[in-house]
Amino acid sequence: MTMRAMILPRFGGPEVFECREMPMPRCAPDQMRVRVHACGVCGHDLLNRAGHFPHTRLPAVMGHEIAGTVEEVGPLVTRFAPGDRVTTIQRMPCGLCALCRSGRENVCTSGPGFYGEDVSGGYGPYVLATERNTVKLPDAIPLEIACTLSCAIGTGFHALRRAQLTLGDSVVITGASGGVGIHTVKLARLLGLRTIAISSSPDKVERLRAAGADEVVVAPDFQFHKGVRELTGGLGADAVIEIAGRPTFPSSVRALRAAGRMVIVGNVDPGSVALNPAMAILREMDFVGSAHATLADLQKVIALVERGAITPEIADVLPVEDVAEAHRRMEARGTSGRMVLLHGGSG
Ligand SMILES: [Zn+2]
Ligand SMILES: [Zn+2]
Repeated sequence: MTMRAMILPRFGGPEVFECREMPMPRCAPDQMRVRVHACGVCGHDLLNRAGHFPHTRLPAVMGHEIAGTVEEVGPLVTRFAPGDRVTTIQRMPCGLCALCRSGRENVCTSGPGFYGEDVSGGYGPYVLATERNTVKLPDAIPLEIACTLSCAIGTGFHALRRAQLTLGDSVVITGASGGVGIHTVKLARLLGLRTIAISSSPDKVERLRAAGADEVVVAPDFQFHKGVRELTGGLGADAVIEIAGRPTFPSSVRALRAAGRMVIVGNVDPGSVALNPAMAILREMDFVGSAHATLADLQKVIALVERGAITPEIADVLPVEDVAEAHRRMEARGTSGRMVLLHGGSG
């Protein structure tokens, strides 16, 4: 059996996508086949398409922000049935390793792997999933919104958990108007944090304030630490959620107070950053990484969205055949919120 999917035959620009017949994913006994209705487009996808993750198996069916309907279940699947509306986390973990058993399946290295890189993803009409990476959706959440929950919202949710902040603490969020950033601002507001959003463009200020930012520092040159220090009585912020990565990292380090915590969650411009060890030592700073979201994060995000505590921001919804256009618009940084691809005849 085959399926028609938008595939990435080789690394390159947005024009490389092709519609091609691919083998239909086949369920192992503990897996289910999900018919994809909607798939979000992530900054991570742009990097993968351009060749920054060379381990990706080509031709690849990209897309790790998946929402759809269970179509077939293997004999070992007991908690899901055909017809269930579901969404998944970004990878299929093994469920057995020490990381999985300690609730850190987001960094499992031994399962089937990450959608769109190790296993076929949501730019195609069908994906495989397991009970370990899938959550049922309440009827109130449409599928084109559900696909934003794991990554566009869950990634910021996980990063804020890693930041270990408490009511009234201050947090700087870089890349704040992007798909992950805007939802991280909303979540920070929900947590009662003093939220300082960093934006490279003055056009985004209103939108960031509407999302809940207490302050917006506009820094087209990526130099915002002075602005942050002024806003924090000269001390710096309690934490930085570093979503932009390399361009903003040097100023983020300087925007952090002594004993502050930097959570590194995104890197739009792949490569290394320089860090003076003395800065980290003498100011006793914590640097922690944050990868995607866990199943527990996703469950909590679903509950928040279901009761209206956080509203997903969708930039636009395009048919999956227009994936090249979606990538072009995101690369031009013309989008605010998540771009969503819809599969034909679904909704
Ligand atoms: Zn993503
Ligand atoms: Zn594992």
